[in-house]
Amino acid sequence: MADVVIVGAGPVGLFMGLLLLQRGHRVRILERRSTRSNRSRAIGIHPSALAELARAGIAGQLITAGVQITRGVAYSRRRRVAELAFDGDSGFPFILAVPQTVTEEVLELAVRNLDAGAVVRGADVQEIAQDLDCVRTIADCPDGIREFRSRLVIAADGAHSRICRRYQPGLPERSYPDCYFMGDFPDNTGHGSDAVLYLEPEGIVESFPLPHDVRRWVVRLGTPERDPTAGGLADVVAHRTGEVLDVAGNSMLSAFDVRSRLAHRMVHGRVVLLGDAAHEISPIGGQGMNLGWLDAAALAPIVDASFRGADVGRHLAEFEKTRRKAALRASHQAGLNMALGRPLWPQAMSARNAFFAGALEVPAISGFVERRFTMR
Ligand SMILES: Cc1cc2nc3c(=O)[nH]c(=O)nc-3n(C[C@H](O)[C@H](O)[C@H](O)COP(=O)(O)OP(=O)(O)OC[C@H]3O[C@@H](n4cnc5c(N)ncnc54)[C@H](O)[C@@H]3O)c2cc1C
Repeated sequence: MADVVIVGAGPVGLFMGLLLLQRGHRVRILERRSTRSNRSRAIGIHPSALAELARAGIAGQLITAGVQITRGVAYSRRRRVAELAFDGDSGFPFILAVPQTVTEEVLELAVRNLDAGAVVRGADVQEIAQDLDCVRTIADCPDGIREFRSRLVIAADGAHSRICRRYQPGLPERSYPDCYFMGDFPDNTGHGSDAVLYLEPEGIVESFPLPHDVRRWVVRLGTPERDPTAGGLADVVAHRTGEVLDVAGNSMLSAFDVRSRLAHRMVHGRVVLLGDAAHEISPIGGQGMNLGWLDAAALAPIVDASFRGADVGRHLAEFEKTRRKAALRASHQAGLNMALGRPLWPQAMSARNAFFAGALEVPAISGFVERRFTMR
């Protein structure tokens, strides 16, 4: 009998597990994958999430492994339009760029250091059943079907969460007219550690520094890229921005479209939904993983107090309300980010860019925009 079973060893499940282990609870994290994913998705870690990672004692390792982005610069048709410094948080005056694979490795190591058996790989959770005093989690494991009993289950099983579907079947999903094509290439741009937005009439191109002199390029397309190749991505980037990518050095390619979905409830008796399982938002703006970590940081003290005998009903209700509100706000921000990247007539784009450049000269406005981009 564990105190808590967490479903999913993604960044959110692992961080939740770490926080509970640090508070002395017995945790099992069930993960269907037998090895860690090598899909590089999230790269951006925002100051508020870094503060939570620091409290858990792992920010230092991530900062050492990552690149500190202190500034975002916007170009349009080869001219510099505006820039924004990410220096509003005195503790962490930057957005940290680290590949999600590295982040998950650091988190899993920290979890295993506290309990070598906490992460159970190859356990595909099929069903959960709530009894009066415990939850039974049924998982398909390499040695057959196993049952794990716990006082609480935290579902961090991602955007296609089986557990969310079980409790909230038919949850509406929103889709968007935006598709993206991204890849990592050796960085030969000279942009250093700047994040760069190319606001182009055919659609936005975004570019972010990564460790080891690599840059991630993301282009907005109107239709899904069916045949993603490094050469194809390099052609779009060159056509829109004039930047020439080193195709032979390409190390990652991915094409994706965008959906959003927000669970009506995060708490279902002894089962709590967290991270993408509770709220899927567009990756544009890089908020999903950060949002899930902030969910975990808010939930950990409530779980702790409940195991120490406190009545936490009111705190759980408040948790659900504030975290759903944070997800909604992040989703609106992601919607604005996507709108900014859609194609626009050249004259309209010039007028819009001039308006943005002027507005960002006003400290109150640039401060507001900086807070929105850094999730503060
Ligand atoms: C291209 C891209 C770029 C992104 N960039 C950023 C960014 O810069 N910053 C940011 O904050 N976010 C970003 N995101 C979003 C971020 O990747 C997600 O929000 C984050 O991975 C969510 O973490 P999670 O742990 O909730 O879910 P996941 O990462 O999806 O992990 C869920 C885990 O649960 C496991 N699982 C699923 N079902 C079961 C089951 N039945 N039994 C056992 N295990 C199960 C899965 O195998 C997986 O390991 C990006 C996303 C994409 C697609």
